[in-house]
This record gives sequence, structure tokens and C-alpha cells, in this order.
Amino acid sequence: MVKITNLCTSCVHIITNPICPYCFSKQVITWLRDKNISAYKMSNIKRYLKKLIIEAEETPSDIRCIVCGSKRVNLCIHCFTNKATKIIEKNTDEEIINNFNEDFNTIIWRVH
Ligand SMILES: [Zn+2]
Ligand SMILES: [Zn+2]
Repeated sequence: MVKITNLCTSCVHIITNPICPYCFSKQVITWLRDKNISAYKMSNIKRYLKKLIIEAEETPSDIRCIVCGSKRVNLCIHCFTNKATKIIEKNTDEEIINNFNEDFNTIIWRVH
């Protein structure tokens, strides 16, 4: 039986490759680093990503991150990517968001 705490708090699907918001955000920021984004926009993006992390801490689960092993995971990769896409969308242009959608799904699966 699957425990309720193994489910993504957003889409309520089972989290199969748990990556915590810290490790996830780190990947997003690394990806954005060579995209020529202004420092101002970058700090906006980082601020929003931090909000995601705080939200995750407010809804803790039993699942530990497979990358760092210490933080808790509350969202599946799919929902994380969706939320990150919205954040980047607000702060960058269409070209970057198109690249992000293309690249990121592959990148995040290579992390572990
Ligand atoms: Zn989800
Ligand atoms: Zn982690």
C-alpha cells in the first residue's frame, strides 16, 4: 500500500524520483546561469524559487531527496518543472522558456 505521504502535494501522483526543492532550484539556477539573464531578473527568479522551498517546508513528507538525502520532498518533478516554468516565464523571454522546456526535462533526470 502506498502511504499518503508519498504523493505529490500538488497533483497527488506518486513521487517516483524524489528531488527536494533545494536540489531542484540549484539545477534551475545552474541552467539559467549561461542564458545571459540580467542580475535583476535573476534575483527575481531566485526569490520565487525560494518561495517554492518555503512552501515545501510547510507541507513536509516522509520522502527524502535522492540527491542530498537530507531534505524532504513534497512535489513531483513534473509539478516542480511546471512551477519553475511559470517563474521563468514571468522573468525572461519566450526563447529562454522554450529552451527550458526542451532542456530541462532531460537535465533533471540526469541529476541522480
Ligand atoms: Zn505532482
Ligand atoms: Zn535534495
